[in-house]
Amino acid sequence: SDDAPGPETSEALGVLHRVFGYDSFRGGQQEIIDHVVAGGDALVLMPTGGGKSLCYQIPALVRKGVGVVVSPLIALMQDQVDALRNLGVRAGFLNSTQDLDERRMVEAEFLAGELDLLYLAPERLRVEHTLRLLDRGQISLFAIDEAHCVAQWGHDFRPDYLALSELHERWPTVPRIALTATATEATHTEIASRLKLQDALHFVASFDRPNIQYRIAPKNEPKKQLLELLRTEHPGEAGIVYCLSRSSVEKTAEFLVAQGIDAVPYHAGLDARTRAEHQARFLREDGLVVVATIAFGMGIDKPDVRFVAHLDLPKSVEGYYQETGRAGRDGQPSTAWLAYGLQDVVQQRKMIDTSEGDDTHRRRLGAHLDAMLALCETVECRRVGLLAYFGQQSTPCGNCDTCLTPPESWDGTIPAQKLLSTVVRLKRERNQKFGAGQIIDILLGKKTAKVIQFDHDALSVFGIGTELREAEWRGVARQLLAQGVLGVEGDYGTLVLTDASSEVLNRQREVRLRREPEKASRTAKAKTG
Ligand code: ADP
Ligand code: ZN
Repeated sequence: SDDAPGPETSEALGVLHRVFGYDSFRGGQQEIIDHVVAGGDALVLMPTGGGKSLCYQIPALVRKGVGVVVSPLIALMQDQVDALRNLGVRAGFLNSTQDLDERRMVEAEFLAGELDLLYLAPERLRVEHTLRLLDRGQISLFAIDEAHCVAQWGHDFRPDYLALSELHERWPTVPRIALTATATEATHTEIASRLKLQDALHFVASFDRPNIQYRIAPKNEPKKQLLELLRTEHPGEAGIVYCLSRSSVEKTAEFLVAQGIDAVPYHAGLDARTRAEHQARFLREDGLVVVATIAFGMGIDKPDVRFVAHLDLPKSVEGYYQETGRAGRDGQPSTAWLAYGLQDVVQQRKMIDTSEGDDTHRRRLGAHLDAMLALCETVECRRVGLLAYFGQQSTPCGNCDTCLTPPESWDGTIPAQKLLSTVVRLKRERNQKFGAGQIIDILLGKKTAKVIQFDHDALSVFGIGTELREAEWRGVARQLLAQGVLGVEGDYGTLVLTDASSEVLNRQREVRLRREPEKASRTAKAKTG
């Protein structure tokens, strides 16, 4: 009958019990495993913490031969292999951190059929020596972990991954399973085509992480806001704070320590030993806060991370989702909190303008940023927006800031026109370049030294914006930038007009804005409790 497990299932289930000590499969694991055990190709899209590893580890144990796992996470290979060895699985790895002797030993084990799983860094597969080695052994499957690294559209492209398209040509009968936690429709299509996985079955798990409460707050005094979050909602709990730059990582970590919070920095500029030590402490200890650049976290499996905070705007929704996904793997309530401000938009647009690469590349970065901004500025449920980005439909969640405190939207056309008119005036006046700060001072009628120096108090727009407070004007400017109604140019973040600006100035376009909450939302507390 339909419910009777097939022979593969029972064997796979046996391995799940015996080797891994788990009772039952989760989510789509069983179908994926059955499919790969039977020799089929698979493309697996599953959120972080969903249980992707078993999807290739179990087929590798059930099928004859060695499962070859391609992973970019070189720093974690030793740990992964040690963990498997502790379970009695015969695992080894080959990467650039090993000396020749170590590599020779693993190669000998592989050839002697003494391995169940062999982890490889992608660049190993560019070396003819490795390919010939693989030819001489028996391969049960190829697992391509972090498969989004093959996609140029994605946010984490690695050129070494392109060579993986050749696996199929060289070993046409060996099943391949590609896995990723980040896949929009575009990335996912690109993975399938670059890896020549056209005939693979696609397994798409739900990307919803219901226990994570998503919150995006206007950035006022980010360190203070962060401290408040930690003290009131997550005292003594483990979490990750992401910052864009190494120096802000250092400063934020120092600040937290000075405030009595157990925090350490982590970024690529620290020496390897310090990094390893901080990572190990994070995994081992109960309530450590790691302040890090995005160099931290990939592949780290700590179940009780209670919050992930972003002090700077992530570059893409995919990155944001992956980073926040490190919270709450144990299913317990957790917070994803992001502080985001005008300067973030200015800075990121500037970085895109000055980035290396061709126009296509810049357009792609721009599209990633726009999607992230849309998520920040939405008045709808954050989760609905996030899941929609991954092509999944849902209904308002009741567990994000916009669901808990629905923001009002208001007609901001007139303030937008005032702000844009000021930009126009400054452009006409002389060839000077001014950022948002000066424009807002003019709107508010502030006679600052810089206003007086440039005679800006003589402009017709001087003081025409006193109906809004400074913070509100910053919100208006930020949202206009996010909507592309205002542009930014050059090194100093000079505000400039766009095509959409003229539509607003000519009254052909209405501007809807989100009302800024008075204070960073803490309304969610009850729900987190
Ligand atoms: P991913 O690679 O998708 O982020 P992992 O494979 O690291 O996720 O799995 C996340 C956690 O869930 C791990 O601690 C793993 O041991 C555990 N896990 C996976 N599958 C099961 C299962 N069927 N039953 C219980 N725990 C599981
Ligand atoms: Zn919601």
